[in-house]
Amino acid sequence: MLLPPIWQRWFLKTLQTSNLPPLVYDLDMPALTNLVKEWGEPAFRAKQIWQGLYKNIWTQPEDFSNLPKSLREKMSANLRFNVLSPTLKLDSTDGQTRKTLFKLPDGRQIEAVLMRYERRRTLCISTQVGCAMGCTFCATGQMGFSRHLSSGEIVAQVMYYARLLQEEDDVVTNVVLMGMGEPFHNYDNTMQAIDRLNDADGYNFGARRFTISTSGLVPAIRQFADEKRQVNLAVSLHAAEDAKRVSMMPINKRYNIEELIAACREYVQKTGRRITFEWALIHEVNDSPEEARKLAALLRGLLCHVNAIPLNPTTGYSGQPTTKERAAAFKAALEESGIPCTIRMRRGIDIQAGCGQLASRVD
Ligand code: SAH
Ligand code: SF4
Repeated sequence: MLLPPIWQRWFLKTLQTSNLPPLVYDLDMPALTNLVKEWGEPAFRAKQIWQGLYKNIWTQPEDFSNLPKSLREKMSANLRFNVLSPTLKLDSTDGQTRKTLFKLPDGRQIEAVLMRYERRRTLCISTQVGCAMGCTFCATGQMGFSRHLSSGEIVAQVMYYARLLQEEDDVVTNVVLMGMGEPFHNYDNTMQAIDRLNDADGYNFGARRFTISTSGLVPAIRQFADEKRQVNLAVSLHAAEDAKRVSMMPINKRYNIEELIAACREYVQKTGRRITFEWALIHEVNDSPEEARKLAALLRGLLCHVNAIPLNPTTGYSGQPTTKERAAAFKAALEESGIPCTIRMRRGIDIQAGCGQLASRVD
């Protein structure tokens, strides 16, 4: 009996992914050491592989010229290196922003963006395929949720761009977890990815150079505060009243503004670290001086900063970006009330690489 095409595809995908060897970036050092021992190799080989991967940014077993051929063959047979196949690369007209669409082994796709600004090389990477939070103004939210990314699939995005920059004698300076997905909905994999990239014997990417952005998953903010990580935290707020925020961000039905700000205050108290609040300025929705004053009242006394960015257009949302004048008035009203605010430049809009514009079709 011939299966209908949709089942055939499902069957193929299952076949493709179920018996695959482990992805090398999914392994932490103890797991890699165990594997190498299982192959009958001494433990120090694991360290050599780790350093090759994360210090030299080697991406294929053939690159490991310091290892015996027999070990390289074992690596090829028992580990997966290629997980992200770049299927589309787009450069913004100013040449400063590069967006890459990657295909995963199960056929699903994610995007990650490199932004060059003065000396900064900031990567915006994804933590999920799609997103379950359904924010109305966000292209990722509009596509719905497909699945979480593994820690290795998150790490692989950084290593892909690290390699690309290495070829230009350049390095990644910042990583923001602001691509597709809600990082706190995929908490463990996201933190494991950060830990792996942070490892001093490996890529050694400083915790303070990561920023996690969340739509406001209160229990995860509490957990994050308790872990006292040095990673920066950004919270997407976008409205200062529940009714308005619910209409933009369904998560607000679960955790309302009062609970969210209480968790943010706890975070600042526990860590002494400043929070960034994200605010997409939408014309005549949330960009008035009055709205700014409401926001200032909400944030009074909290060690924070507001990052406001004119809304980026997405196909599924009819709201319009704010104007320059309205943005300036919003900033002025906030600052008069004692809350520092930056109006962020929109970047990579011509290639749909701006905040909230990342999406991919699910095959
Ligand atoms: N899920 C996380 C991180 C990914 S979204 C979060 O929501 O915080 C990264 C940022 O882009 C968030 O601040 C989000 O609110 C914002 N964003 C989403 N859609 C946008 C749009 N159309 N224009 C501007 N910013 C947008
Ligand atoms: Fe998800 Fe963030 Fe987009 Fe909301 S803004 S749908 S949480 S990716």
